[in-house]
Amino acid sequence: MSLQLHDTLQGKKVAFEPLREGEVTMYLCGPTVYNYAHIGNARPAVVFDLLARLLRRSYKLTFARNITDVDDKINAASIESGKPIDEITARFIKAYNDDMGALGVRAPDVEPRATQHIAEMIEMIETLIEKGFAYEAEQHVLFDVSSYEQYGALSKRDLREMIAGARVEVAPYKRAAHDFVLWKPSTPELPGWESPWGRGRPGWHIECSAMAAKHLGDTIDIHAGGRDLVFPHHENELAQSCCAHDGAPFARYWLHNGFLSMDQTKMSKSLGNVLLVHELIKTVPGEVIRLALLSAHYKQPLDWSTETLESARSMLDRLYGAVQDIAVSDQARAAAEVPQDLIDALEDDLNSPRAMAAFFGLAKELNKATDEAERESLAANMYAAGELMGLLGNNPDEWFSGDVEGAIPSDEIEALIKKRNDAKAAKDFQTADAIRDQLGALGVTIQDGRDGTSWRRN
Ligand code: AMP
Ligand code: ZN
Repeated sequence: MSLQLHDTLQGKKVAFEPLREGEVTMYLCGPTVYNYAHIGNARPAVVFDLLARLLRRSYKLTFARNITDVDDKINAASIESGKPIDEITARFIKAYNDDMGALGVRAPDVEPRATQHIAEMIEMIETLIEKGFAYEAEQHVLFDVSSYEQYGALSKRDLREMIAGARVEVAPYKRAAHDFVLWKPSTPELPGWESPWGRGRPGWHIECSAMAAKHLGDTIDIHAGGRDLVFPHHENELAQSCCAHDGAPFARYWLHNGFLSMDQTKMSKSLGNVLLVHELIKTVPGEVIRLALLSAHYKQPLDWSTETLESARSMLDRLYGAVQDIAVSDQARAAAEVPQDLIDALEDDLNSPRAMAAFFGLAKELNKATDEAERESLAANMYAAGELMGLLGNNPDEWFSGDVEGAIPSDEIEALIKKRNDAKAAKDFQTADAIRDQLGALGVTIQDGRDGTSWRRN
């Protein structure tokens, strides 16, 4: 495998070489579980799932994606809703996994939860204090940023400039403005654990450092996440891990996906332009959303619009159209190969748009082929390519009838239309309109005509 990846620390595309031959470790910062994931949150899950699928072809991969289940945003959600923290986190862990599953994201090998690694975090903090990289003050423990000379290397920030430009009010227990919290005290109503510094809870950054070390070792091959995590989250993880492990490199390659925006505006809850995966999968097949998320190179920004989904849908229609009506035997499947140009594209820093172009090249070849055996073998290759990309997982006939996982089945649509027409005949227009709205919310548009009511999926 000749994989090239863009490493944020080196600032360029470099040849990938794992620490141990034949094995790869990868850590992806996962969700903070206090609400549903929006499609921006789904982008790292989908693009690094694609990388995991690619790596598994050549290596024994151990892929960890954590769950942050202790966080001030979770505490706030609990106070606001009056529900216990455990209930909130359990609900949104399940929702996250269901939603990502619908987008073809395979479960990682390890899914460590922060609350189950408090002992490891405390141990790492103790090590940092012992080695002179952290200090205790007023029941807090802080990382002493000035003790780590390379601080700022990942995010390309100069600490001296940062200090000069800092306008933040410095908390009284901090020696310097940029020192960050490893441990903080909890009041009795907040989640907390006993520690050498009193009852408290960890800071966010130490969670990932401790969980990565526990499950993947002191030096991991790939550390991934969204662009916004470079600073301060990853910069701080890097400082902590390196200092706790006597300078051993923390991650050999740092990968960051670009941001998803909607109509050129950053997707954010406060702006009210958030599109939840949980809602979207009720109206659009998960594969369409997955392909839409892979339609731009992962490092590039991706501006989401209705056209993004429409174009992904029509691309999938073309792929399913090519394999429809071709029976592929188990034997042909076993002999199938992913086209080399598709693999080359993914090995070139996960170039998914180029990989899709190669996928279409294969579909075109299949459409042109007339020999039955050749068509079967090319269709088998299509399914192998689909397996790698996380696409073509549905039966083609069901794809075209719209009866794919998560979508409302055609017979239920017909039954609702009949109910609506009955209501209209009985002059119960309120019920008729409510059913039209219900179908609309499920991604179905209906049209009344001379020959009755027709419908289509959006
Ligand atoms: P959070 O649950 O907010 O910590 O986010 C989970 C992951 O989603 C992180 O890796 C973020 O970097 C990523 N993320 C959040 N918003 C976006 C966005 N609009 N586009 C791409 N990635 C995002
Ligand atoms: Zn993290």
